[in-house]
Amino acid sequence: MKDSIPVSKENYLKAILEAEAEGREVIPALLAHRLEVSAPAVTMALKRLKRNGFVEVKGTVRLTAAGREIAYRTALRHHLIERMLSEIFGMEWHEIHEEAERLEHAVSPAFEAKLREKLGANGACPHGNHVLPENPVERKQRGETPLSEAVEGGRYTVVSLQERDPKLLLFLHDAGIGPGQSLRITSQNYDQTVSIELPAGTTILGRPAAEAVWIRPESSE
Ligand SMILES: [Zn+2]
Repeated sequence: MKDSIPVSKENYLKAILEAEAEGREVIPALLAHRLEVSAPAVTMALKRLKRNGFVEVKGTVRLTAAGREIAYRTALRHHLIERMLSEIFGMEWHEIHEEAERLEHAVSPAFEAKLREKLGANGACPHGNHVLPENPVERKQRGETPLSEAVEGGRYTVVSLQERDPKLLLFLHDAGIGPGQSLRITSQNYDQTVSIELPAGTTILGRPAAEAVWIRPESSE
């Protein structure tokens, strides 16, 4: 399905910037995985981006200043569109990421300025994320943790969801796990799943989903 949509220059640059912001080493295989394209497609795209002066490729991929500028603009527009769809049009968080993926490429500078004016500069998107993802090390220093590493018996509030994969968002939505949700960790299981108690009942998350949910402990005061 994804292969029928041409993955634009902006998407590559944004994926590189996001992986960088997460503290990942950006190698072509990571981009192939995240953009759901083949390795040869990534090689071709990187060649083109390099020729245009947007990236440098020496084993790892690095953005040039020009590449970084476009990547940030695209990420910012994605963020603003998500907030517009949610805050102005009331669309639900599991519905909007793909919509924003399409619309982010069509935002003019004037519309971007309007959106910033209307929405304000510092809000989080409905998935709990800011313009760029954060480095997990910094998040842990702030006391946040991925659900996969939560303490058994602990009560937590969901802070944010990794939003790259719309199928994952829909899965989490159906499981009743979204930003702001309060939950209790029943057990971290031997098979790397996590048992969770939610107001609607108990659920079990597998590793890939549990790693994508960031939570913070609820204070007992
Ligand atoms: Zn989002």
